Amino acid sequence: MVFPATDYAFARYDDAKHYIGGAWVDGPAHGTLDVINPRFGTAIAKVHMGGAEQVDAAVKSAAAAQKEWAKLPVRDRAYVFYNLRQIMHAHLEELTWLVSHENGKIYSEAKAEVLKAIECVEYGCSLPNLAAGSRMEVSRGVDCEIRYEPIGVVAGITPFNFPMMVPLWMLPQALVAGNGFVLKPSEQVPLSMIRLAQMFEEAGLPKGLFNVVNGGKEAVEALCDHEGIGALGFVGSTKVAKIVYGRGAQSGKRMLCLGGAKNHLLVVPDADLELTAGNVVASFTGCAGQRCMAAAVMVGVGDVQHIVDEIVTQTGKMVTGKDMGAITNAQSIDRITGYIDDAVARGAKLLVDGRGAKADDGGYWVGPTVLDNVTPDMPAAQEEIFGPVLSIVRVNTLDEAIQLENSSPYGNAAAVYTTSGDVARRVIGEVSAGMCGVNIGVPVPREPFGFGGWNHSKFGQGNITGWDGFRFFTEIRKITSKWALQSDQTWMS
Ligand code: NAD
Repeated sequence: MVFPATDYAFARYDDAKHYIGGAWVDGPAHGTLDVINPRFGTAIAKVHMGGAEQVDAAVKSAAAAQKEWAKLPVRDRAYVFYNLRQIMHAHLEELTWLVSHENGKIYSEAKAEVLKAIECVEYGCSLPNLAAGSRMEVSRGVDCEIRYEPIGVVAGITPFNFPMMVPLWMLPQALVAGNGFVLKPSEQVPLSMIRLAQMFEEAGLPKGLFNVVNGGKEAVEALCDHEGIGALGFVGSTKVAKIVYGRGAQSGKRMLCLGGAKNHLLVVPDADLELTAGNVVASFTGCAGQRCMAAAVMVGVGDVQHIVDEIVTQTGKMVTGKDMGAITNAQSIDRITGYIDDAVARGAKLLVDGRGAKADDGGYWVGPTVLDNVTPDMPAAQEEIFGPVLSIVRVNTLDEAIQLENSSPYGNAAAVYTTSGDVARRVIGEVSAGMCGVNIGVPVPREPFGFGGWNHSKFGQGNITGWDGFRFFTEIRKITSKWALQSDQTWMS
């Protein structure tokens, strides 16, 4: 397969088949779909939509390869990720354009995604130093020991908005821990994982250990139901996260499902004008608002008109296609513009209108949009729009602002913009969100700090990256041993 390392508008890729047992396998059990370059609206490949048959073959392949892989010392397993890191860096340009072609991000954002994915790989390299386990003489002559053991075959299901990074939230921990893996990427962006599979081979990962089944609902259901999978990580919308969490748990799997978001940025009058305005704009327009950490609601506390004015000025200067990428699929345009139309009909003031924006040659676009005087009861204030739309809700007090944030069913991220330490401490202590920012609108924890929200932004226990991710994909074995009979035995020995 050829992967052009440049921005070739009509780059075409080979079909995205399944990668099972180290081979590229046909399997349009449920037909094929076009993979679209959202910047131009052109088909760049076809994806084979697999189902139960492909999932079963992938689980069998992973189970067979995992037996030998688990026997390797953890350090040897991590060496594959040292190699992968070098290979990904050497192909940074190519991977960047690949992500941009299938997802529609602008170059700088696609590159940032690949670099963040590499950071996750680096975390995998550090695991042997973290996963040493522990041992203690608990009673005279009796040792207790803890070991981290692989679960066996584990799986991941990922969304369209970060085709390279989100799968690599899970793969390093799961594989270094000694598991086999079956991945189901989003059918909208299957190409990055095809390239990653090739790179894994080059890095020395044994064939059959990592498998990719492409597809949609049918493949997801088969993964949830398969008895051979011990743990399943999911990242996507809250609606699907809930379904997958329940269905996977039915067959006794360990489940961790990350869902959608509605993130609140609380802005108080003493906030630094330039920092705040620039940061809020970057937060709601980055990745065209298609990220679970994007600013969705700006809660203006008291008189923050000067900050709103600067946000409007900066937003108005943005050029779609240059400063902001495309919307990943055509259907989302109707959803996003529907929220804008509805808010306006209910009395919101449209300060910047991104409807009807165009860029490049064709493609799917909505420009950055700012809505003021949005009220808490409007869908634009409550529901995940997943597009470049900032809803500004005005309140009089910090109490009201915190209450508004707390009333959201989600809990991924929240941020406060202020120059007052008191205000920052209070807000961070009282918002109901797993990832909080002080003067930072996209408070993504860098590795080794784990990624994960609260409330309906996550179903299951712990974070998906960092140490929690390693623990999610491992069992703890406790070993108690005695080698000599003691004359002075205690109740334990
Ligand atoms: P999605 O829920 O539609 O799809 C996610 C995965 O589930 C895909 O692989 C898809 O094929 C599969 N799927 C879709 N519908 C299904 C169904 N009915 N039954 C079974 N499987 C189904 O999400 P998306 O549109 O790809 O991604 C956007 C969503 O992901 C947003 O809600 C965003 O907030 C969320 N997201 C969350 C995080 C996080 O860390 N919390 C990170 C990235 C994206």
